[in-house]
Amino acid sequence: MRILVSNDDGVYSPGIACLARVARRFGEVRVVAPDVEQSAAAHSISITRPVSYRQTPIFGEIEGYRVNGTPADCVALGLFLWERVDVVLSGINLGPNLGYGIWHSGTVAAAKQAALLGVRGIALSTSVVHDEPDFAALEPHVERVLSALLPVDDLPLANVNLPPSPGAMRWTRQSARAYDGKVVPGTDPMGRQHYWFTVEPTIQTEPGTDLWAMEHGDISITPLVLDVTDHGELERLRAEHPLDPEAAP
Ligand code: MN
Repeated sequence: MRILVSNDDGVYSPGIACLARVARRFGEVRVVAPDVEQSAAAHSISITRPVSYRQTPIFGEIEGYRVNGTPADCVALGLFLWERVDVVLSGINLGPNLGYGIWHSGTVAAAKQAALLGVRGIALSTSVVHDEPDFAALEPHVERVLSALLPVDDLPLANVNLPPSPGAMRWTRQSARAYDGKVVPGTDPMGRQHYWFTVEPTIQTEPGTDLWAMEHGDISITPLVLDVTDHGELERLRAEHPLDPEAAP
């Protein structure tokens, strides 16, 4: 099995080192990741400048490359330069990617870019409790997740979140109740106003969601789709608000 590994925290993140190490037990691994942190870069690509692809020795026997681009750039380039990739793994992100937050996620976007190109994509993220997650302790659980998901070859896109001391693995849906994004004003040392984009933890969680699973100390695995059409609404709108008849399907 040929596995491309990327992330949005950058090629020097301890999370990608852990993921590459575990992935190596399942097949041939190549790491292609941003040279600097690209968290919250979402699914952006670099179209106004070329990107570079430079080898880095930091993964030892695993081939590694750093790219001065976004997570989606890295996956697009990685799949262009390495043929017959079976799966793209993205992460392990330092911080969870849950609920509406996944719209901003570069970690999830890297997996989405794989799915756009017809390759399976799996995003992995974990909570940061203290300064840094304990990736050595997390390793067997990451292996458990990959053992469960890699054989499922009819799952094109999945978003995995691991709590610090993971329990059971659960299939979940994206929490879609509340957006936790927040703008917080502050003042710089010169007394000028500035603003931080941050998150406010969601209080209420619904059973069966990604947030709920993580709150209960379980591993959340959410299947995602690339089609964002609201198919239920589409039918209703066609019936209740017909537009120009000549434009009807
Ligand atoms: Mn990140």
